[in-house]
This record gives sequence, C-alpha cells and structure tokens, in this order.
Amino acid sequence: MAHTIALLPGDGIGKEVTVSAVEIMKVIAEIFSFELSFTEYLIGGCSYDEFGTPLTEETLNGCKKADVVFLGAVGGYKWEKLPHHLKPEAALLRLRKELGLFANLRPAKIYEPLIDSSTLKRETLTGVDFMVLRELTGGIYFGSPRGYNEKSGWNTMVYSYEEVERIAHKAFQIARTRSSRVTSVDKANVLEVSQFWRNVVHKVHEQYDDVELTDMYVDNAAMQIVRNPGQFDVIVTSNLFGDILSDIAGMITGSLGMLPSASLGELYGLYEPVHGSAPDIAGQGKANPLAAISSAAMMFKYSFNLPHASELIETAVTEVLEAGYRTPDIYSTGCTGIGTEKMCELIKEHIYQKAAYARESYHL
Ligand code: NAD
Repeated sequence: MAHTIALLPGDGIGKEVTVSAVEIMKVIAEIFSFELSFTEYLIGGCSYDEFGTPLTEETLNGCKKADVVFLGAVGGYKWEKLPHHLKPEAALLRLRKELGLFANLRPAKIYEPLIDSSTLKRETLTGVDFMVLRELTGGIYFGSPRGYNEKSGWNTMVYSYEEVERIAHKAFQIARTRSSRVTSVDKANVLEVSQFWRNVVHKVHEQYDDVELTDMYVDNAAMQIVRNPGQFDVIVTSNLFGDILSDIAGMITGSLGMLPSASLGELYGLYEPVHGSAPDIAGQGKANPLAAISSAAMMFKYSFNLPHASELIETAVTEVLEAGYRTPDIYSTGCTGIGTEKMCELIKEHIYQKAAYARESYHL
C-alpha cells in the first residue's frame, strides 16, 4: 500500500525546495521498493490569492487524510500588509493546532565540511549531534488569562499532566533511537509550572530506566549549548524555552538553508525546513534544498519507520558537501558553486551509488 503525502509547497523558495525533496523521496521509494502517492495543495500567500484565505478546508482535510504532510515555506512581501488572520503565516499556526502537533523536533547536527562556517570554534563543534524537542501546543503561548492594559500586561504559563507526560514519552522514545540521554530543561528554581514539569518528566522516566535523565535550568542550558554542545543528545523543554533554545542550537550549525524539522502529534506528522520563503532569492534557482531534503530524511525515520532510508539521504548530503559543492548561502572560497537543481541532482547520484550497498545491507 502506498504511503500518502500531502504536499504543501507554499510560496517563494518553498516551491523550489519542495521539488527537490520530492525528487529525493521518489528515489528512496524506488530503491526500497515502496510506493509514495503525493497530493498537492495550496497554502499561504498562493492560497490567499486563489481563495482569499491562507488555509482552506480542502487543504486542511487533505492533510488530515494523508499519512504525513510535507511543507515548503509560506510568506512574502506581497502579503505583508494583510490583516493578521489572513497572513500566510496564520495558516501554519492553524495547521499545527488542527493536526495536534505537540512535539517539534529540531536536530542540531554538524556537517564536518561546513564546520568552519559556524561562528563557534571547530574544537567546540566537532561531533555535535543533538535534538531539541520543543513542546509546541501548550505553555505560555496558549495559556489564559492573557492580555494587557495601560497599567500592566500578563500571560499564563500552564501545563497539564497529560501535556508534559506525552512530550516526555516522546523524548525518551527518541533518545532510545540515539544515545539514550535526555536533558529536561526548565526553570524549576523560580517557576512552579517548571517544578511540576520536572516532577512529571521524572515520573515518566520510571518507564525508561535504560535512558539517562538530567535536569538543567534554562539559563544554564543556553550557556551550555554555546559552551559545550557536544554534551547533549536529546533536550526536551517547554514551548517558550524551546522556541529560544532551538534557534540557538540551529544556528551554531551554520546556515538556515541546512536546518530540517519535524512536528509530530498522536496522529499526524508534518515535515518542513526551518527557513522561510526567502523572497530575496525566490525564483533564481539559488535556494539551498538541503534543509528540505533532510526534512524528508526525518519523515522516513519518524513517520515511516525507515531509518536506513533516512541514513542513506544523510550520508549523501555529507558526501556532496565533502566533495566541495555549495549553494550560495554556504559557499566558501575554493568550493564549487551550484544552484538548487544541481544540488538535488548530486544528492540523487550519491544515493543511487550507495543503493546497491543499502539493498545488500538491509536485505532488500
Ligand atoms: P527566511 O528564512 O525566508 O530568509 C532569511 C534569510 O536566509 C534570507 O536572506 C534568505 O535568502 C536566506 N535563506 C533562507 N532559506 C534559505 C535557503 N534554503 N537557501 C538559501 N538561503 C536561504 O526568513 P525571512 O526573510 O525572515 O522571512 C521571509 C518570509 O518567510 C516571511 O514572510 C516570513 O514570515 C516567512 N517565514 C515562513 C516560515 C515558514 O514557512 N515556516 C518560517 C520563517 C519565515
């Protein structure tokens, strides 16, 4: 039976990088002999232009019917002045909420060939490979009461037992597929909600005695990610802290064009590059497709339980970078400058080269 994918290319370079990711997904399906079926929907600015809304019921229902959702990016200059609820970005918030995507996974992995383009020193970064798991549908971004008047402003950071429990399970399960270490980040020395978070995470941990659990205050975690990022495996944290830490973690690894992400719920999974629609370079064939391609790799691992397909893609990305090929955003002197299409072609070639070995190793 075919795996069904709802494709939402969106706007700007979202469209361009989605084409590349789909090419790679098709190659993987061919090599591992399974079927993929794609249905494309509008989202964001292009949906507003066509239907007067950035997210139609048709798109939403299409996503709910599919096994997974793959998204490019939304937004652009053209729609910047629209009222908030009609902006392309409003579609993302509603989509995440409707699909119940409570867990946001952002890997921070160093590609050795790009290590010198990071703002951190080579010796700090060598071997860094961790995952920030951010709670995405609760906490202070959604708690009430909220508001402000002339004299004060207020928000509420609140978590239910179930909300913390399910993200903690996710963290321990992901850690089991990696190096079996979880760091739970909170502010339990000051916030009661954080003490509660910590209690629940420890309770859930009783079911995962093969996974090591450490607690860390968020201010220390921010410092440690920059000081010694190699110490982490899986960081699990709340919505607000995760918003900040995942950006720090992402950027220590270099370019926005390299960062993939996954958002998971009980029923659905959505995969997308972290970057936006990059209107400054849209339509020029310059966009780096590797974030989107690595998001496809995450899809094979987390939604289709095909970690070897994911590894094959990741190895190809590393090899192409090692061979010195770079899109403009990651270009450095002495490398070979290429565009979106060529990068995708090279990744495909490397995957095909390894296909025979992969078939043999995994008895396909
Ligand atoms: P952006 O991520 O689109 O671009 C920031 C900078 O990084 C730009 O200079 C861009 O050229 C570069 N860049 C980003 N991705 C790249 C890639 N794959 N290859 C090469 N260079 C790349 O962020 P922005 O400029 O702040 O936002 C542009 C639009 O995208 C806005 O409308 C914003 O709201 C939207 N946005 C959407 C998402 C999303 O769809 N998930 C995320 C962030 C921003």
